[in-house]
Amino acid sequence: MPEKIILMNDLRSPAMPVPSVAEAPTGLLADARGRPLHDLRISVTDRCNFRCVYCMPKEVFDKDYAYLPHGDLLSFEEITRVARLLIAHGVEKIRLTGGEPLLRKNLERLVGMLRALGTPSGRPLDLTLTTNGSLLARKAQALKDAGLDRVTVSLDALDDTVFRRMNDVDFAVADVLHGLDAAHAAGLGPIKVNMVVKRGTNEDQILPMARHFKGSPFILRFIEYMDVGASNGWNMDEVIPSAEVVRRIGAELPLAPVAANYSGETAARWRYVDNCGEVGFISSVTQAFCHDCTRLRLSTEGKLYTCLFATRGHDLRALLRGGRTDADISGAVAQLWRGRADRYSETRTVDTSGLARGGKKVEMSYIGG
Ligand code: SAM
Ligand code: SF4
Ligand code: SF4
Repeated sequence: MPEKIILMNDLRSPAMPVPSVAEAPTGLLADARGRPLHDLRISVTDRCNFRCVYCMPKEVFDKDYAYLPHGDLLSFEEITRVARLLIAHGVEKIRLTGGEPLLRKNLERLVGMLRALGTPSGRPLDLTLTTNGSLLARKAQALKDAGLDRVTVSLDALDDTVFRRMNDVDFAVADVLHGLDAAHAAGLGPIKVNMVVKRGTNEDQILPMARHFKGSPFILRFIEYMDVGASNGWNMDEVIPSAEVVRRIGAELPLAPVAANYSGETAARWRYVDNCGEVGFISSVTQAFCHDCTRLRLSTEGKLYTCLFATRGHDLRALLRGGRTDADISGAVAQLWRGRADRYSETRTVDTSGLARGGKKVEMSYIGG
């Protein structure tokens, strides 16, 4: 029944109220916990050519899965407009993500449009992208030429059998390594390599990955397996705490902690004591960093999410396509950020589905990492 469908949409993505009095952005927005708005993650597609078991398991994301129709996706012009308005509110860093962002046609054009945006401080925007690396060898130079600063590449194993099992589409490690080299040659650095660690699945890859990237131009980061979305059947027993990963690496390759680069940095940094580079640890499960989380996420279809673990987004597209002025949209976003109190990782309970909080959590492949 149509009424029912409208009700569901309203619950999942409430309309964003527009304040009646316009106010010029100051670049100094703070949320209900005093956190500024600094980072914007933009998901440019909900599709992916991998079926990573922890993100888009084949059983759920099969041939019958309903991806967004093309008309629902924000256009590059719409994305750039949002980015421009958010930069005026203080955003200094933009990360393109997905799904697999390099599947979005002509992504270089969007990169060029974002690159052309000025910032209030005059400092250049930090423009980056997270990718599974499968199309990087082909696209690295064009992305660099369009103005992308750097890339982060996901790679969960060095052993081909383990990696093929995890991406579940039989993709080879060598092709990702080739993409990494192409990105390095194009100057898309510093390049980070993200490895999600899942107990019993790729824990035997921790040391081979550390050995491989030690002393290389790439910074390896270990990510705790998270309870994002509602499809991956997350279980705390499958999380290997970062402290354990540090111990396992340190036993063979001695490590020492390094001070954070800036407040809000997601990864804790450690360096090899023989000065052959560093490694990072993203411990969203065992050491929540909500207290200085400065990230806002824009979904492929134009919903704003104030937390990775949110159960609903805020329908910005309705304003973009509803003839609203820049001042209206800017005011609506400011109001949303001021009311933000999210701190899911600090309050995580055994109910990880989100159902107790009024709905299923949004999928990682839809909102981006
Ligand atoms: N497809 C691109 C990729 O894989 O790099 C970009 C999108 S992906 C959703 C972004 C990041 O989220 C990847 O580094 C991926 O490993 C990570 N990720 C996905 N599901 C995760 C989970 N359940 N726990 C921790 N990290 C996860
Ligand atoms: Fe695709 Fe990235 Fe999710 Fe893997 S982690 S399924 S590559 S979106
Ligand atoms: Fe930020 Fe939400 Fe993650 Fe906490 S749980 S760090 S608020 S995205």
